[in-house]
Amino acid sequence: MRRMWIAGKWTGSASQRTFAVDNPATERILERVARGNERDADRAVAAAAESFRTWRRTPGLERAALMHRFAARLRERHHAIARQMTLEGGKPLIANLDEVEWCAAVYDYYGELARDQAGKVIAPVFPHQVNFVRKEPYGVVVCIVPWNYPLLLLTWKAAAALAAGNTLVIKPSEETPLSTLMLAEDFALFGKGVVNIVTGYGPEIGEALVTHRDTSLIAFTGSVATGKRIAEAAAPHLKKLNLELGGNDPFIVCDDVDVGIAARGAAWAAFLNMGQVCTSGERFYVFEGIFEEFVERFVQIARGLRLGNPLGPDIDCGPLIREAHRLQIERKIEEAVGAGARILCGGRRPRHLRKGYYFEPTVLTDVTQEMSLMRSETFGPLAPLVPVQGIEEAVRFADDSEYGLGANIYTNNLEHAMYAMENVHAGTFWINDPLTDNDAGPFGGMRMSGVGRELGIEGLDAFREPKHVHLDYHIEAKPYWYPYRWAGIKKARRAS
Ligand code: NAD
Repeated sequence: MRRMWIAGKWTGSASQRTFAVDNPATERILERVARGNERDADRAVAAAAESFRTWRRTPGLERAALMHRFAARLRERHHAIARQMTLEGGKPLIANLDEVEWCAAVYDYYGELARDQAGKVIAPVFPHQVNFVRKEPYGVVVCIVPWNYPLLLLTWKAAAALAAGNTLVIKPSEETPLSTLMLAEDFALFGKGVVNIVTGYGPEIGEALVTHRDTSLIAFTGSVATGKRIAEAAAPHLKKLNLELGGNDPFIVCDDVDVGIAARGAAWAAFLNMGQVCTSGERFYVFEGIFEEFVERFVQIARGLRLGNPLGPDIDCGPLIREAHRLQIERKIEEAVGAGARILCGGRRPRHLRKGYYFEPTVLTDVTQEMSLMRSETFGPLAPLVPVQGIEEAVRFADDSEYGLGANIYTNNLEHAMYAMENVHAGTFWINDPLTDNDAGPFGGMRMSGVGRELGIEGLDAFREPKHVHLDYHIEAKPYWYPYRWAGIKKARRAS
């Protein structure tokens, strides 16, 4: 049984209850894990609040040195950590190795960024004044994380929040707590109680953390539905929130590009991690002049993707996270087909993989904007392809959504690229470069896809609040104090 990490110690849950974590590739139970409740939330928050008193005052240079040491530990253990992520999450090992490296880079980045600037000095209004803005940590930050990129999405919060001087209570997804728990003893190098990890279900221990009197900020990544629930629970306490939510990203392909390359880029965006990426391409609008050729090439790529054991070297895709998710995707396809959509490939469970939550990469056409797969996030390996007459129609369809997480276009036409970029709501817009990331730039969603940003300086500022300090180094009575004297004020202004 895996225990929680609170105040620098392994500890069972107050209720003594546990839950099972399984391997989505084999359907076998990997481990049982402590199922936390509000009493465990209390202990973890108390530990984080206690350690905040010292961590907030730790000099930036020292914090940065610790963050670099933590990054080095991630790199040293990257294979073991990535293997654990693959066992519990089903993402191919190669992608998880990449994820661990990427996490290490983010710790290095924020360690230095927070050292570089902790506020600003602004021009005074009167002589002898010094006005400066100090960026202060909030206190105890709660990090609630999903399963698809369990360490990366944790890192975007944890690295920035720690660098800013906050202490943490982490609640990993109940699907993938094991890789996060593997980091516990390395987190100890920040000091006892600076980072605490609790495990269990969202509505139990997650919500207890959201509503806890002593937590200051909730940094959440997950679905829109859970994001709304967290916002409602946090509202009576006026908790600060950073919400990274779902998307239903559009992908436009114009007729002036190499169709083979665009089809490969589009397939990458659709099927990476079985479409279980918040910025997966979920709706493809292709200029009608190249539609037929694009479809042919895209289907060929989808058919060629190798499904299998995600620990194996010669596979492209692993399983979906769980059976309930696979059933949901099947229902969505059934509904679309019932309304006239046509499956060009996939649409079923692979025959050669009897165990595991596998599903074939699926391409559909004859879809309409009203179908649920075009309106709500699928988070699976579905690619609906739609022919469009030109850039205006493509952009109109692309922006016809409640979400605004990411959007893609393939084109050499600068006017098309800029028109789409300006008119599609998206926190990230990719031109001929699907789904790349850069830690130094902000990431997040417009519309229902989120509140706030992670990464970049914006992602550091998400974990610091400004305090404007007014200082006068020459103590004197101010001419504008009581009793009011109009002449005195004018004179003082002239003198300045
Ligand atoms: P989810 O919303 O079901 O769960 C996310 C986390 O929230 C889990 O740790 C869960 O235990 C916790 N949780 C659930 N109910 C809670 C509650 N009432 N109070 C507090 N915590 C609660 O999401 P998921 O299935 O783990 O992840 C998939 C979703 O995440 C997709 O919608 C995807 O788009 C989104 N996502 C967004 C981004 C982004 O950066 N915008 C990145 C990755 C995933």
